[in-house]
Amino acid sequence: MKKTTMFFLCFLILMIPIQVMAQRHIPILVYHFIDEYKGLGSKDLYVTPENFEKQMMYLRDHDFTLLTFDRWQDIDKVSKPIFITFDDGYQDNLNAFEIFQKLKNEDFKPTGTIFVISDFIGRSNRLSKLDLKRMVDSGIFSIQSHTTTHPYLTKEKNYEYELKESRDHIQKITGKPVYVLAYPYGDFNNKVLEETKKYYSFGLTTTPEYFSKKGIKDELYLLPRIYIKYSTTLDEFAEIVDGG
Ligand SMILES: [Zn+2]
Repeated sequence: MKKTTMFFLCFLILMIPIQVMAQRHIPILVYHFIDEYKGLGSKDLYVTPENFEKQMMYLRDHDFTLLTFDRWQDIDKVSKPIFITFDDGYQDNLNAFEIFQKLKNEDFKPTGTIFVISDFIGRSNRLSKLDLKRMVDSGIFSIQSHTTTHPYLTKEKNYEYELKESRDHIQKITGKPVYVLAYPYGDFNNKVLEETKKYYSFGLTTTPEYFSKKGIKDELYLLPRIYIKYSTTLDEFAEIVDGG
């Protein structure tokens, strides 16, 4: 082998770990219903409690650290950081709560973030005020905003109502700061980002990618998320979280 080729190969091998460390790819997962599918609505918005538990056990057994956004500054400090999020505030997220409590041990402290639609709190299949309070008080869940009525924000006129009102309403229920917004339908544009910045520190999309710090403008308001679906097998789940 030519000397220059050898040198180039050594250089590449040395560079790879540096690249990997500098470009940590963090999965932010999104779930909706944690329940059996009973034939209503989109099946892929459901993950059965059994599958959810297996997925969380996988994270526990492979040394992942489940974070909420108040620990954002820890993403470079902990083993395998990952964010578990739930959209729409369905009552069956209590199944996730139960599973987290069951799997919790000395070394594994499961946490997650639920994005609730503040006007929908307490409706028939949604979490109630009391549920939210219990979940927050357990230290397991962070409750954040998914707006007041779940509109397409790019078509919205009354941002104060959708963004500020929902934030204030949820804060009143939980007694904890609300500073993360999940855009309904993953719908946003520059105007939406500007309005979000007035009231929130983070904005979550549904762009299916890993998060990696790129230092680009507004990156904390463009956080990507990866869907876990009814059809996601445990092997696929492992591939998703390990690919990060
Ligand atoms: Zn939603």
